[in-house]
Amino acid sequence: MTDIENRIIELRKTLIYHSNRYYNDDAPEIEDYEYDMMMRELKALEEEYPEYDTPDSPTKRVGGKADNTFESVVHTVRMESLQDAFSKEEIYDFDKRVREVIDNPHYVVEPKIDGLSVSLEYTNGVFTRGSTRGDGDTGEDVSGNLRVIRNIPLKLNEDLPFIEVRGEVYMPKKSFERVVDRQLIAGEKPFKNPRNAAAGSLRQKDSKVTATRGLDIFVFNVQQIEGRELNSHKESLDYLAKLGFSTVKSYKRVDSIEDALLEIEKIGDMRGELEYDIDGAVIKVDDFDQRELLGSTSKFPKWAVAFKYPPEEKQTKLIDIEIAVGRTGVLTPTAVLEPVHLAGTTVSRATLHNQDFINEKNINIGDVVTVRKAGDIIPEVLCVNDKLSEGSFIYPEACPSCGERVVREEGEAAIRCINPECPAQLLRNLIHFCSRDAMDIEGLGPSIIETFVNEGMITKTTDIYRLDEGEIAKLEGFKETSANNIITSVEKSKQNDLSKLIFALGIRHIGAKAAKLLSDEFKNIDAIMNAEVSDISEIEGFGEIMAEAVYDFFNSDGAKELVSEIKELGLNTESKTQIVDNRFEGKTFVLTGTLENYKRSEASKIIEGFGGKTASSVSKKTSYVLSGEASGSKLDKANKLGVPVISEAEFEEMIK
Ligand code: NAD
Repeated sequence: MTDIENRIIELRKTLIYHSNRYYNDDAPEIEDYEYDMMMRELKALEEEYPEYDTPDSPTKRVGGKADNTFESVVHTVRMESLQDAFSKEEIYDFDKRVREVIDNPHYVVEPKIDGLSVSLEYTNGVFTRGSTRGDGDTGEDVSGNLRVIRNIPLKLNEDLPFIEVRGEVYMPKKSFERVVDRQLIAGEKPFKNPRNAAAGSLRQKDSKVTATRGLDIFVFNVQQIEGRELNSHKESLDYLAKLGFSTVKSYKRVDSIEDALLEIEKIGDMRGELEYDIDGAVIKVDDFDQRELLGSTSKFPKWAVAFKYPPEEKQTKLIDIEIAVGRTGVLTPTAVLEPVHLAGTTVSRATLHNQDFINEKNINIGDVVTVRKAGDIIPEVLCVNDKLSEGSFIYPEACPSCGERVVREEGEAAIRCINPECPAQLLRNLIHFCSRDAMDIEGLGPSIIETFVNEGMITKTTDIYRLDEGEIAKLEGFKETSANNIITSVEKSKQNDLSKLIFALGIRHIGAKAAKLLSDEFKNIDAIMNAEVSDISEIEGFGEIMAEAVYDFFNSDGAKELVSEIKELGLNTESKTQIVDNRFEGKTFVLTGTLENYKRSEASKIIEGFGGKTASSVSKKTSYVLSGEASGSKLDKANKLGVPVISEAEFEEMIK
């Protein structure tokens, strides 16, 4: 294989991986800019070496694949992507290509909203169905979740026989900050940026969750219409607004590409003032007949181009470093900066990761540092630009919340406060305890918990089960019904499966999945408490560190007391999992690569439903490696260890 071919294969593999993380898991690992640059490199190589081009290359695909969480919707009008441009030259090239086909084009320039594309259908003026873009041809029916978005009219101002419009669902910056704050307080992994938060929120199984996320929409296109003729983009945007849609703001019709570039600049300048994220500006040919003449490629229309603003870096002074204490006691540093205008917003805080990062970059208060902010809303300090201080910042030896000594365990980057009574940790522990994946106590959200802690009604986790309805109702802002609702959901949580309780206890290294494994294996809390490290590490998927964390937790001073209190309060401490068909009993699967028809979490659920287990790494104990597209080192390891590797089709046979 030639070097070129190797590079093409590597780029395709990497792009498919990141595309899945972005579109299907809503959890990107790299910046959009980095992704776009790889895509460009691949496109250029495929153009230069057409012998290596393939029809299934990511350069020819739109978005992600619809999975089977929702019903599929086949789009009558393809939901295309947009060609991108990163420089003025590329915009001039676009204009040249347009002029080769049509004379005298007029353009409309509008902000490119950083959200996710949806189609909305209305029959006789009534909203009938809404779907995601998916791969452009097939999306998912998310009507229920779209209905809870305030700005989506359920009835139009005119009873048109039929209209399908396209818009961008987004999460306003304010909603994003609120959602992330809650996630951080609850010790959950926060969404990386508003786009991913919007995508994750729109694909919720429960519309009630979507409704709490403050999503919004801008409509920017008419896909199909009956009962009215529209001739241009500008005319259709004006008409959409009349029908009651919230349309993209500040669109402008211009007569030349130079004026279009000026508009792009203007939109770029106002990024900071907008209440939502934009990742570029779109230039579109205004006239629909001209659009028709220009046509489309397999991926995007030739009559539009998206100018993408590049990630920005700026230098500023580091004024202070603040240390916060997380749920697990980990101290996290935040840089307080002299405010600087960056990628559309004023940045005055940025992450510094941990003590190792600070040491490595030799960062200290008083230095001039480089800050970067790309698609993500949380900026980061990249490096020191001007070293104006001595040495690097060193964490305090005492916890900023409780004043107790902090420790750094061997082999760990994190420095933590290990005082179980630390107030910063109590609050976060309580929030975690009540969160959805843990005890799922509806109504006991972060701010209410904080009130109860401040009022002295909760001084330790188990106090949640001693809350008094009358006492709650007396607090300012509470009524009898809200107090009653809280007590009802607290009572309901007592019946939860043991796995939820184990997760809620916040044992280090034990996430929701590990808690389920523990609960399924030992069946009740006493058995877990009496287990030795060696018993626990027998569980497939459990390493020594996790087993020790469980052992240490249940053998610590307060554990016996805590467990007996839990029982006295009437919480369920038994596993409720019932396996009906246990064809995979004793079998452990490792999943690798991308599956065509299932998300990994779904495949894991199926395996567990049949009594099997899933693990994240391949060992001799592994029964099967289920291998999808673009699988990597796990596959190699399976082959080395002689572990049977099965394809998705074989897996489907096994679960029939
Ligand atoms: P795109 O986001 O670049 O452009 C197309 C989309 O723009 C359309 O789907 C449309 O919904 C939207 N849009 C917003 N406002 C619009 C307006 N006013 N008019 C028309 N369309 C508008 O293309 P894409 O194919 O959806 O995704 C590619 C993007 O996703 C790139 O920016 C890429 O960086 C990012 N991505 C990132 C990763 C990662 O790992 N970071 C992975 C995959 C994709």
